[in-house]
Amino acid sequence: MNKKKEVLLSVKNLQKHFKVGRNAVLKAVDDVSFDIYKGETLGMVGESGCGKTTCGRTCIGLYSKTGGQVTFAGMDVHNVPPEDQKEFKRRVQMVFQDPYSSLDPRMTVAKIIGEGIDIHHIAKSKQERTEMIYEYLELVGLNREHANRFVHEFSGGQRQRIGIARALAVKPEFIVLDEPISALDVSIQAQVVNLLIDLQRKFGLTYLFVAHDLSMVKHISDRVAVLYLGTLVELTTSEELYSNPLHPYTQALLSAIPIPDPDVEQERDAHKIRLTGEVPSPINTPPGCKFQGRCKHATARCTQEMPPLRDVGGGHFVACHLCDK
Ligand code: SF4
Repeated sequence: MNKKKEVLLSVKNLQKHFKVGRNAVLKAVDDVSFDIYKGETLGMVGESGCGKTTCGRTCIGLYSKTGGQVTFAGMDVHNVPPEDQKEFKRRVQMVFQDPYSSLDPRMTVAKIIGEGIDIHHIAKSKQERTEMIYEYLELVGLNREHANRFVHEFSGGQRQRIGIARALAVKPEFIVLDEPISALDVSIQAQVVNLLIDLQRKFGLTYLFVAHDLSMVKHISDRVAVLYLGTLVELTTSEELYSNPLHPYTQALLSAIPIPDPDVEQERDAHKIRLTGEVPSPINTPPGCKFQGRCKHATARCTQEMPPLRDVGGGHFVACHLCDK
């Protein structure tokens, strides 16, 4: 029997613009629409400055929106009634990119994890609170001896585990993971990704996993959304994106992922798609397709008409005139 997927977060025509200078507007998120289903991980990738972090933060109401709508479990994220605010903030959590600056250095690990437990009255007694802190530390691969230490005593990977424990302790349903492994050593990155996958299975969590390159999201994402200058250019399952990328920008991003085998890499080098042209400023984006200045397939039409994001079959969405037929 086909199980119907339940939409947890729905983003419709979201815009987040920032005023810069007297008359200029930076369109960080420019008419972006997607759904995230309950229990899935949606990877969101794009180069620095493409708007992915702004998009993640606007999706959970950390930033106000300029236009469009975001709903979480049917609730308008930017108009949560005051009586539901606290519960909304419990259900939706964020893990930040930089584990060095996102944790208060004056607080012990127990205090960092216990803060949310206290705010949301999750533990019934002091003893239960302590047991919960130990339990979350163990769940993220640390142990109870770590509870009374300060964050400067931990490595980057351990700090990110503390950040994950802090988010988990309030029993959330949805977590925005904002480049959670970018600041970590490559050897630690896979461990943190595997931990996130285990925790998702254990607690039925839903993730938006923001990353700057496709190699990072491959292992964890069910579907992947590719952003370019604030616009969604491709969205499909992880498997389809890696085997059949359709947007020229996605093809270039995939081509840039190094393969750790010098022979294969040398052979591949000859066929690599190299992005040419300047990244246009997000303040003065050209009319038509935003990728036109770097795309070897660009035609006159691309300079005039912005390609809409359309389903080219089986839930594979692409915004490119090449995919019209
Ligand atoms: Fe390239 Fe045109 Fe497609 Fe844009 S619409 S990606 S410029 S072919």
